Amino acid sequence: MALDFSLTDEQELLVESIKEFCERNFDEDKIVEMYNNRGASDELTKAYLETGMGLMGIPEEYGGIPADRVTLGLLTEEISHYAGCVTPFMNNTLAMCDMIDFGNERQIKQCMEGYMSTGKPIFSLGFSEPGAGSDNQNMSTVTTKQADGTYRLNGQKTWVTQGESFPYVFVVAKDEDPSRENRKMSMWLLPKDAEGVSVSKLHKRGQQILPFCEMFFDDVVLTEDMRVGKEGEGFINLMKNYEMERCLVVAMVLGCAQAAMDDAAAYVSKRETFGKPIASYQLIQEKLTDMEIALRNTRNMLYKTLWKIDRGESVRIDSALLKRYGCQQCAWVASEAMQIFGGLGFTTELRVGRIWADLRGCQFAAGTDEIMVYIAGRQLAKAYAQD
Ligand SMILES: Cc1cc2nc3c(=O)[nH]c(=O)nc-3n(C[C@H](O)[C@H](O)[C@H](O)COP(=O)(O)OP(=O)(O)OC[C@H]3O[C@@H](n4cnc5c(N)ncnc54)[C@H](O)[C@@H]3O)c2cc1C
Repeated sequence: MALDFSLTDEQELLVESIKEFCERNFDEDKIVEMYNNRGASDELTKAYLETGMGLMGIPEEYGGIPADRVTLGLLTEEISHYAGCVTPFMNNTLAMCDMIDFGNERQIKQCMEGYMSTGKPIFSLGFSEPGAGSDNQNMSTVTTKQADGTYRLNGQKTWVTQGESFPYVFVVAKDEDPSRENRKMSMWLLPKDAEGVSVSKLHKRGQQILPFCEMFFDDVVLTEDMRVGKEGEGFINLMKNYEMERCLVVAMVLGCAQAAMDDAAAYVSKRETFGKPIASYQLIQEKLTDMEIALRNTRNMLYKTLWKIDRGESVRIDSALLKRYGCQQCAWVASEAMQIFGGLGFTTELRVGRIWADLRGCQFAAGTDEIMVYIAGRQLAKAYAQD
């Protein structure tokens, strides 16, 4: 098959609309305000809803706009790029991908109705626990079936991004037995205001516009219709979710790193030291060159991985390689961008320092750098093994 790296006319138009949307709705003052207020303003949420971009990737029969995963990556990258910060919009794309992959018709409709009425995804993702981050298998949140056919949910989730502000939470819990050995888990969509659910705020080092929280479940009553996907298949589905989540996280960090690059690469021609623009120094040129290589490599890996998802191919290794490389390299690009600005880069006057702190967090979210080695390394050894 011939290689074609060009964007379609529709994708070109999409990028143009994103740019206009961001120019209209994001400026540094507004962004700082949203970081201080722990979330996007209602005005911005509504404005994004009106663009229809949050409906992309959702089948037409549910009122969505069909889009392949490559286009969803482009949407996520370009919003972060033109906004110059992490935004809450990726969450809707991800939430809907999960629901379309695992939910039934009624659940997809429920999510769509919620989104259309508020402009926010209806649920956050509650997978991690204090004793089970990288090691999801060790989770101990559990459901136990009751004589009347309902279930009781008990346990705790943590680092739930936007758990405070979304009305539902998508929880993975062990079926019946909380022990490590039990691999049977199910996914549930439950209202956050259900009796027995409580939330406690956590404070991030960066990404304050996307706050996370702890959630506690104390004998929460669940009914069968709250289950998402098949009983006992939660762990497999969770692993599947991570593949797309990793791609979208990288799309987001790539867009942010590109914004840092835009700023730093423009500054080198303006800033003079020792009577010359710093662009004339080879040490600065080397930084720009390596930053550009990192961005281009990340972009190539990202879109090839998404292209493979669109073709129904396995991306277990690809998404792990991408997540490790992309998140490390993009955080490094942001750090170098700060370096280019000198002391100014470390002040709150500029956005590069904020971008750097935001991107550092993505080396943990959706699986740490080390866990990507754990996933990809063993598979690579198998794939390269010779008889
Ligand atoms: C910004 C952000 C957003 C997040 N959003 C969500 C969310 O919405 N929902 C959710 O459920 N969770 C979320 N998380 C949680 C995230 O998925 C976990 O933090 C992550 O999986 C790591 O788990 P842990 O923090 O328990 O670290 P641990 O698993 O305790 O790991 C500690 C250290 O040991 C390393 N390590 C662990 N096991 C191995 C191994 N086998 N080999 C080598 N090194 C190893 C890790 O890489 C890490 O450096 C978020 C986290 C962050 C930072």
